[in-house]
Amino acid sequence: MRKGATKDQIDHVVDRLRERGYGANLSGTEVSVIGAIGVLDDDKARLAEQLASLPAVDKVVPVLKRFKLASREFHPDPTIVEVDGLRIGGGDLIVMAGPCSVESEQQLLSTAHAVKAAGANVLRGGAFKPRTSPYDFQGMGRDGLELLARAKKETGMPIVSEVLDPHDVELCAKYVDILQIGARNMQNYALLREVGRSGHPVLLKRGGMYPTIENWMLCAEYILREGNRNVMLCERGLPVGGGETATRNVLDVSAVAVVHEISHLPIIVDPSHGTGKAAYVPALARAAVAAGADGLIIEVHPDPERALSDGAQSLDFEQFGALMKSVERLRPQLAD
Ligand code: PEP
Ligand code: MN
Repeated sequence: MRKGATKDQIDHVVDRLRERGYGANLSGTEVSVIGAIGVLDDDKARLAEQLASLPAVDKVVPVLKRFKLASREFHPDPTIVEVDGLRIGGGDLIVMAGPCSVESEQQLLSTAHAVKAAGANVLRGGAFKPRTSPYDFQGMGRDGLELLARAKKETGMPIVSEVLDPHDVELCAKYVDILQIGARNMQNYALLREVGRSGHPVLLKRGGMYPTIENWMLCAEYILREGNRNVMLCERGLPVGGGETATRNVLDVSAVAVVHEISHLPIIVDPSHGTGKAAYVPALARAAVAAGADGLIIEVHPDPERALSDGAQSLDFEQFGALMKSVERLRPQLAD
């Protein structure tokens, strides 16, 4: 719509769209943007022409991307996901930190207090773990969720934790503030629909069999399509090609810039899984922040050497404190 379009003029366009069987999605602060949702029908071109002739309509832009709800064209302003009063997206940097897996009360609570003291905003911790081997630690399940709830009560920090099974979405949503979809499950469509229906904030990691950015956006679209707008994306590295073993994955920092261009959804970067080695985590965390990430998610453990999962990439409390300081030093130097 043109700048200064009145509510009546906006309502008129919305009514015209509904009349023709389209849904309408309103967004925009400076100017109003009306997103038309519906099946592409034969008279789309004519309708576009008719709408464009209205005086308050600035332009009618067909969204050509296969993902629509996730696209920047459809929703020009950045989405801000509110989690317990915390605003994620749109400029501020938030930090999620905590152990890969919840292992014990002592392990989780000591980590929660330490990461909070260092400035983290959200506590992470896996209760249901997707492990490569069925003989590896599978997580504490419901007991782990109980411990996360305790940690939240003690520290006030909201919780992010992975949900593996569509049947566990309801249970997990009772305990955690952000449902994490792991890299292995990016294209688990039944799970995506279920977290979509929950309406709960979701952190969608990039991965799956075909981890292209377009596929990732289409997976976000599955969640958005269920009416859940609280979607955050998470870049966590791609499998290393060419037999490289120096890092576990290749962190695609460029995904931050790409996502900001094509989508309005916040993007969080995970340099822990992205590199697989604690020594490389701070450098890649800074790279992500410099590239414009909306947040970081970092694995922290009181004693990485004894961690039940992902010890090699986990920072101890001191290393995490140093990372937070180095990120804080970097931020003011970043030009807009
Ligand atoms: C995790 O966050 O511990 C995890 C399993 O991550 P990913 O799905 O990215 O491998
Ligand atoms: Mn992990």
